[in-house]
Amino acid sequence: MSLPPFDQRDGFIWHNGSLVPWRDAKLHVLSHGLHYGSCVFEGERAYGGNIFKSREHSERFRRSAEILDFEIPYSVEQLDAAKDATVRANGLVNCYVRPVAWRGSEMMAVAAQNSTINVAIAVWDWPSMFDIATKMKGIKLDIAEYRRPDPMTAPSGAKAAGLYMICTISKHRAERRGYADALMFDWQGRVAECTGANVFFVKDGALHTPIADCFLDGITRRTVIDLAKRRGIEVIERRIMPEELSGFDECFICGTGAEVTPVAEIGETYRFTPGAVSRALIEDYEREVNAGPRPDWLSK
Ligand code: PMP
Repeated sequence: MSLPPFDQRDGFIWHNGSLVPWRDAKLHVLSHGLHYGSCVFEGERAYGGNIFKSREHSERFRRSAEILDFEIPYSVEQLDAAKDATVRANGLVNCYVRPVAWRGSEMMAVAAQNSTINVAIAVWDWPSMFDIATKMKGIKLDIAEYRRPDPMTAPSGAKAAGLYMICTISKHRAERRGYADALMFDWQGRVAECTGANVFFVKDGALHTPIADCFLDGITRRTVIDLAKRRGIEVIERRIMPEELSGFDECFICGTGAEVTPVAEIGETYRFTPGAVSRALIEDYEREVNAGPRPDWLSK
């Protein structure tokens, strides 16, 4: 059974300060955000009614907008409250949360200083794949043709819509070729991240991950680093060259959507065996995201 398209669902979307019926949350075709990519967004998950690391996501949301030279007209506290209200209004307990901010229609040219800043928050059901046996088989990653851009070329620290052009192209190519996702190198040819998730490798029980200096330093990435350290696992953030991929034992990707997902293959050359470290971090992550307080409205 296929779900209706995203503009034809029921429920409520928070739009510029109030909850509106889902189908009424519209924008005009002459929106700067659409034509010129002046748009930033977030991707979060609620577990048991509690949005995991909501505050960090709201802070990153505001920071992404600042990098694109606009200010989100809501504080972190207001955004957190709006997200909670949207989850509650839709009666969802475990769901994906998508805040998005974009420049409106007042100016339609490159410069857009006087455009209004619009903000919306939508939530929808997106089950996590918690079946550990399936996860432990590992996914296959293609190697993307596009590279993560030099920070001198693009605002690479922002979660900005425009940066996803190369991700969509790379993911389409990967899926066409039978892969689940694509590993992207950076502008210097080093291993960077996937199209919507960060990457980790395991060697002799230690974690290795690229330094997030030209791609998104994911909130899940930081959580995984923290969980690993709590277990006494050594974490090494360093430059990783593609030739080194053959020397790693395990590999996994992580992100709000992917959570912690082991990788079995990268391209035609590299093979990994999802093992004890990946399994331990999957379990730790699941425990961590579910450790938040149950909101009052759920217990009533
Ligand atoms: N990199 C990219 C390109 C992403 O889109 C995401 C998902 N937001 C991530 C990494 C992981 O970030 P997070 O853990 O904050 O979801």
